[in-house]
Amino acid sequence: MQEKTGVPLIHILDPATVNQIAAGEVVERPASVVKELVENAIDAGAGSVTIDLTATKDTITAIRVTDDGCGMSPADAKLAFVPHATSKIGSLDDLHRIRTLGFRGEALATIAAVSRVTLVTKPRGSGAVPGTRVVIAGGTVLETAGTGAPDGTSILVEDLFFNTPARKKFQKSKNTELAHIHDVLEGICLSHPNIAFHLNYNGTSHLVTDRTASPLDTIARLFGSEVIRDLVPVEGSLPILSIAGFVSRPSLARKDRARMIVSVNQRFITSPAINDAIKAGYGTLLAKDRFPVAFLNISIDTTLVDVNVHPTKKQIRLSREKEITEKVRTSVRNALLAHDLIPAAGQPGTMMPLVSEPPATPVKTYDISTMPGPAGVFECSHAGTAATDQRLRQTELSVDTDPAYLVSSLLPAIEVIGEFSGIYILARTQGDELLLIDQHAAHERILYEQVSGQLQETRPSQELISPVVLHRTPKEAAILHDLMPALALEGFILEGFGRDAFLVRAVPVVLGRLEETTILDDIISDLVSEEAAQTVSNRERITRIVACRGAVKAGTVCTREQCQRIVDQLRRMKNPFTCPHGRPTMIRFTRKELDTMFKRI
Ligand code: ADP
Ligand code: MG
Repeated sequence: MQEKTGVPLIHILDPATVNQIAAGEVVERPASVVKELVENAIDAGAGSVTIDLTATKDTITAIRVTDDGCGMSPADAKLAFVPHATSKIGSLDDLHRIRTLGFRGEALATIAAVSRVTLVTKPRGSGAVPGTRVVIAGGTVLETAGTGAPDGTSILVEDLFFNTPARKKFQKSKNTELAHIHDVLEGICLSHPNIAFHLNYNGTSHLVTDRTASPLDTIARLFGSEVIRDLVPVEGSLPILSIAGFVSRPSLARKDRARMIVSVNQRFITSPAINDAIKAGYGTLLAKDRFPVAFLNISIDTTLVDVNVHPTKKQIRLSREKEITEKVRTSVRNALLAHDLIPAAGQPGTMMPLVSEPPATPVKTYDISTMPGPAGVFECSHAGTAATDQRLRQTELSVDTDPAYLVSSLLPAIEVIGEFSGIYILARTQGDELLLIDQHAAHERILYEQVSGQLQETRPSQELISPVVLHRTPKEAAILHDLMPALALEGFILEGFGRDAFLVRAVPVVLGRLEETTILDDIISDLVSEEAAQTVSNRERITRIVACRGAVKAGTVCTREQCQRIVDQLRRMKNPFTCPHGRPTMIRFTRKELDTMFKRI
């Protein structure tokens, strides 16, 4: 508004405008109406809440939420629609110990400002006293009257955004809005398994949860009973908090965070910090871009939780956040450790690869032309044993650096019982399971973690007694020249040696004294090969190649002692389940599975 002089005049907005502006923050879409009304029903102590949606082909036309909660007196029924009218807090102090979902006294006022609302309510246990009916449209009270009503409250919202055309225009398709409503209700149902929720859509039942003592029942209702099989329970507590819920085995991981459903003090919230902590609990069991399924209810000392961050109350601010998220991380980790994460027979490859990026090089097939004939279990001593031994020992130099790995090993104790074809190690766990371990993949994993665990900018290298000469094609030589600085950081010291040839003076320590110089040739071939698309850093690429080429080859018969050493080292790995390319290192057969295969049961 401007006076004739052109200077703008300040004036105070009328309450109706203020409410409409506020409505923009609290009531973004039909799902926000559902959320606010259902939360009010929960705060009213309801044991059962019913949501009825009415929709045409294109839009949701009405939302009704009915509860059997405490209800409202005639006076409160009118007051409830006044902005900042609330029965839930009395003073600033109360803000620090909020136990209810609502407390701002905004929702009903703002919903009524942008729609037509019909409230019917009656206080619980008020006997013959009649109920109250209030009709409000666009913030104006149209009707208040006594009426017959059951105990509890029913609020009908129609013509949403009828007086805010801009907001109405921004509503997404009906199905998108329905999806949002489902998201809201899933979060609410999971944080309140003790309340029965019913969602009806044009009179047809869509979602029902019962009052249940077991949150698993609610999860099964919402997401299907198959999900339950892949969940492990999580528990954790500190004096300031307790954590309860479930997280999924890595095999159930998803591309998005949509199934990480977390509530704090029974409020379904979105917390990037807590989501990150859950994910961190998986360590290298999940790739960077995969997310677990998680249903966690966390109770935190209310004085540490600020829910007054945003009018929608979906975000929280935590005091002592580090302590809290660290407990979440360790609780998830412990839950996973306590459970068997090895793929069962018949479903290999369900584990996620450790690495976040797709493999830079296609998975190799290994040369088995040198494979010995069928060997009895450890009967033959193989010519390669001494060299193999040397190579294995090399990897043992530094794996012991962190004894914590053993304490927290993701694998149970494993006893080697044999080997097959120089490719597979046969082993058993104390839990009466038979394991088939891919010897090469296992050793590759060990080398990979050993090398990538070296934190130095320049990785340790070892001079060769006599330098090795490598001849390459002109094209490969050009690529190799470019890669020389990156290779030097990884411990490969190369020099140009005339046209298209190189002198290798030193190699990474993990490759040992390099008796077989063909390894070097293989590594360089992998590096310069065209398929090796640059999707990962040079460091990561070289580490993987070194691990792959440095590991004992498939077809190398190892002694029982050597196999046992591979297995023991594997147990110390952060991710013992896959090789760096994401292939499984082992497959498990339980006694029961074998019995079934042999039709013993
Ligand atoms: P808030 O929930 O933040 O207090 P609302 O605007 O959502 O604010 O509700 C205002 C008040 O109306 C509540 O504090 C409560 O006293 C009353 N109320 C709202 N919904 C219900 C209900 N379903 N049952 C009983 N009382 C209700
Ligand atoms: Mg409320």
